[in-house]
Amino acid sequence: MRLRLRVLASGSSGNAALLTAFDGTRRHDLLIDLGLSPRRLRGLLRAEGADLESLHGVLLTHGDVDHLHTGWTRGWPSLMAPPVVVRPEHGHLLPRAGLPHAPTRWIAEPLDIGPFRISATALPHDREGSTAFRVDFADIGVGWATDMGRVPPTLPQLLDGVRLLALESNYDPPMQMASPRPDYLKHRIMDGGGHLSNAQALELVHTLHAQGTSPEHIVLLHLSEQCNDAALVHALWKREAAHLAPRMRVAARREPTDPIEVIATAPLASA
Ligand SMILES: [Zn+2]
Repeated sequence: MRLRLRVLASGSSGNAALLTAFDGTRRHDLLIDLGLSPRRLRGLLRAEGADLESLHGVLLTHGDVDHLHTGWTRGWPSLMAPPVVVRPEHGHLLPRAGLPHAPTRWIAEPLDIGPFRISATALPHDREGSTAFRVDFADIGVGWATDMGRVPPTLPQLLDGVRLLALESNYDPPMQMASPRPDYLKHRIMDGGGHLSNAQALELVHTLHAQGTSPEHIVLLHLSEQCNDAALVHALWKREAAHLAPRMRVAARREPTDPIEVIATAPLASA
C-alpha cells in the first residue's frame, strides 16, 4: 500500500492537489482545493488517471478564488459529484460560490471517507480563516497547511507524526517590503492574518522536529511570485536546517510538481 501526492498547481494563480492511495489493484483519490478552472482541472486529473466523478471527496481549505475557482459555478458536476469536506464555519462558502447543491461533509471531528481518515483545524487567514487538513491512510499521515498568517497552537498537534508535510512558505519579508505592493496589502499579508513567511514555515518544521515529527518529505506551497524566490528558500534551508533540506522541495506554480510517494510499513492504521 502506498500514498501519492501530486501537487497540480500552487500559488495565487490557482491551487489544487491530488492525493491517491493505492491498495493492491485499487486506487482511491482525494482532491485538495478547486483553485483551477473545471476544464484545466479535469484535464490534469485525466492525465493522472483520475476523474472528478470518482473522487472520494474534495478537501476545501477556504473560499478565496485561488482555492475555489469561479468557473465551478457552471462546471460542477450535477451527477455523481464528490462530497466537499469543509468545516462547519465555512458552510456558507459553497452557496456563496454558486454551488448550493454541492454535497457536503462537515468536518468538526475526524471523518472517515473511503479508506481515509481526515482531520482538520482552523488557520488564521483574513476574515474567514483557512483550514489545515491531515489525511491518514494505513500508517501514513499527510499534513496540508496553507494560507495562514501565523501557526496556531493546534497545528503542530494536528501534524504530529506525519510522514509527508505540505506547508505554505509564501514570502521573503525583505522582498515583500521592497515590492511595489501598496502598504495596506503588505501589512495584510504580514500582520499574522495573511500568509506565512519562509522563516515562519521553517520554524514550524523545527518545532515539529523537536517534538519528534520529522516528515520524510516536505513540499513547500504557495510561494509568492512577486515576493519570493525558490533559490532563496533552498539557501535558507541549507543554512538553517541542513539535515532537513534534502527532504524539501518547492511546488511549481503553474504545472504539476513531481509526485511524492510514501510506502505504508504497516497494513492497517490503529483506529
Ligand atoms: Zn491562497
